[in-house]
Amino acid sequence: MSNTVPAGPEKPFSPSEMDRRGFLKALAALGIITVVPATALAGCAPKDGQSQAAQSESFDLIVVGAGGAGLAAAITARENGVEKILILESEPVNGGNTNFSSSGMNASETKFQKAQSIDDTNELFIDDTYKGGKQLGEMPLIEHLCNNSAEAIEWLEGIGIKLDNITLTAGSTIKRCHRPTDGSAVGKTLVPGLVSELTKQSLKVKNGYQVTDIVMEGGKAVGVKDAGGTVYHATAIVISTGGFGANYDMITKYRPDLKDYVSTNAAGTQGDGMRMAQAAGAELVDMDQIQIHPTVDQGTGSLIAEGIRGGGAILVNVEGNRFIDELKTRDVVSAAELEQPQSFAYVVYDQEVFDKNKDAASYEKAGLSIKADTIEALAEKLGIDPVALVATVNAYNAAASEGAADPFERTQSLKALTIAPFYACKVAPGIHHCMGGIKINTKNEVLDSAGKPLAGLYAAGETTGGIHGANRLGGNAVCDIMVNGRQAGRSAAAYIKG
Ligand SMILES: Cc1cc2nc3c(=O)[nH]c(=O)nc-3n(C[C@H](O)[C@H](O)[C@H](O)COP(=O)(O)OP(=O)(O)OC[C@H]3O[C@@H](n4cnc5c(N)ncnc54)[C@H](O)[C@@H]3O)c2cc1C
Repeated sequence: MSNTVPAGPEKPFSPSEMDRRGFLKALAALGIITVVPATALAGCAPKDGQSQAAQSESFDLIVVGAGGAGLAAAITARENGVEKILILESEPVNGGNTNFSSSGMNASETKFQKAQSIDDTNELFIDDTYKGGKQLGEMPLIEHLCNNSAEAIEWLEGIGIKLDNITLTAGSTIKRCHRPTDGSAVGKTLVPGLVSELTKQSLKVKNGYQVTDIVMEGGKAVGVKDAGGTVYHATAIVISTGGFGANYDMITKYRPDLKDYVSTNAAGTQGDGMRMAQAAGAELVDMDQIQIHPTVDQGTGSLIAEGIRGGGAILVNVEGNRFIDELKTRDVVSAAELEQPQSFAYVVYDQEVFDKNKDAASYEKAGLSIKADTIEALAEKLGIDPVALVATVNAYNAAASEGAADPFERTQSLKALTIAPFYACKVAPGIHHCMGGIKINTKNEVLDSAGKPLAGLYAAGETTGGIHGANRLGGNAVCDIMVNGRQAGRSAAAYIKG
């Protein structure tokens, strides 16, 4: 195991209480769904009713999982002429972890970067991704991701999802994290936008259908089976079921040191796709590579987006001191945070950072942030020595606005925290992303242990492994689901047409 995260916080955190009801409530709190509908809660029950509803039918394509990767795959397959498409989703609402994605989508050489004189290149993006993943990622997959990222941004714009507000995330050497014009969380625009395009393409998701098996015949994928035992036949299957960040049995199996951490993940991220693919003959790679994210509210598992730090926020410990360049990669910042007294930190920002990151309003609404008119008053509310916190903020402000050397050698996104009111969110590391998963090639074909494609079987998104290596950069997962979701849809369409 190559992760270097220390054994865990001094006081182990409780595992996330996130269940399906919690997932729906979290979506409601973030404003992703307005109310938790009774029918949706009914879907929280075991999905044993589905066998009654389902008939055994034949399709050209079955997409398993309606998160960002699955939605992109289905729409792209349709654009490429595939007619009979079945999309099965285990949860009562679509979008999985994609709903929660906040900071944005990385992409290089985009027209929006060019318009804002951001001089990025695909080569730089490839280099950042490879280095950020500690040289464990597979270069052909990384090149495919980065070289196709601008096309994905343009495709999204073409279907009404404009991501032209560009910010910086940790590990990127230049601003390439694209988000909606108003700086709001990307998932809240992406999922409704993709669902709307799906509807325009006369496609619909069947919710509450949990797929349990890939049906193989003569080495080919020929269908799937749901939890009610119904088999659906198809020429091609795309697995897009996300990671396993909400499955503590799998966390314990692959990374026992993380079993007591909270998780930021949606309830449906149970690793089903990986287990099904493996049973069908697929190889799994890097399964122990699980990212912990340094800024997670420990009570709710809610993420305080990296874009807040990218917008200028700092991290301070309970003594009011900074302890790291806040824009180092997530593994490095998490490890530093765990070494602080009581193993937690506060993300501290001002009204200007708040205004540029629309998600900050949802933290306030959800009671995740504490607010005060002065830094002294903020310190008092946090139980921190005001003198220490004022000195820390002053030193950072001097580096940000007067060109003084930053005490932690931070060089990116320094912004003086001077605009009242001031905010702080209490955070510690939480389970966030599964870098490992189903082995694929650049056509998104699922591979066996000999590297041979399993005919008719494709996979995309967090259920796959090999792209992000030992550490995913903020913004790279949304890039992954768009580029690879689309590629899986295109490859499946070509296979179906023969
Ligand atoms: C809080 C949070 C914030 C994030 N912010 C960012 C960000 O700003 N930028 C970024 O790049 N990345 C971000 N990420 C990561 C990124 O959101 C995910 O990696 C990505 O959205 C995964 O997309 P996906 O389509 O692969 O899976 P998901 O979006 O998780 O979708 C998988 C879908 O499959 C369904 N499913 C699972 N099993 C089955 C089954 N057996 N049968 C049928 N359906 C099934 C699930 O219910 C789910 O709807 C964030 C993640 C979290 C948790």
